Amino acid sequence: RGTTPVPPDARPRLTVLSGPSGVGKSTVVAHMRKEHPEVWLSVSATTRKPRPGEKHGVQYFFVTDEEFDKLVANGELLEWAEFAGNRYGTPRGAVLDRLGAGEPVLLEIDLQGARLVRESMPDARLVFLAPPSWEELVRRLTGRGTEAPEVIERRLDAAKIELAAESEFDTTLVNTAVEDVARELLALMDVV
Ligand code: 5GP
Repeated sequence: RGTTPVPPDARPRLTVLSGPSGVGKSTVVAHMRKEHPEVWLSVSATTRKPRPGEKHGVQYFFVTDEEFDKLVANGELLEWAEFAGNRYGTPRGAVLDRLGAGEPVLLEIDLQGARLVRESMPDARLVFLAPPSWEELVRRLTGRGTEAPEVIERRLDAAKIELAAESEFDTTLVNTAVEDVARELLALMDVV
């Protein structure tokens, strides 16, 4: 994991949406962007393989391990972290360009990434997406019921630790109804 410092004049209006895995971050973002496509969402680079339907440059820039190494070495990532065996990182240049133009910028990244952004851009607005309840998160993580009990157990242990990160964030939004959270997020970003 790592980070590259950012000049102080390039710091307004960056919003970071993060939270435990399974809480529904990408659903909230997808809903928000459907109604407000003007909110610029950073497209991350990842070494993960595309899932069916995912397109290069849309959900992610899908890169090889070597390409990712190069992005890191060249200081091209604002932050990056390893998650579930793959690396994910935020391209630095595009984010700083948009911020420089005074546009609202949104990152949807994992908790490690949110902490790294806090270090490199202390003025960033960190938003924690929380599940309505522990029971609901268990229900979502258990999901389709296709995973082995040990795997589910491990994910739930991880979720307990992830939930404790809430206190590090500026704001918490509770993901009860996706439309409500999307609206609250837009309001925080001064878009509506
Ligand atoms: P997925 O593989 O399900 O698309 O994403 C896995 C996790 O990686 C999610 O929690 C997502 O928010 C996070 N993620 C996506 N892009 C980035 C990034 O650029 N940096 C970091 N730190 N996490 C990311």
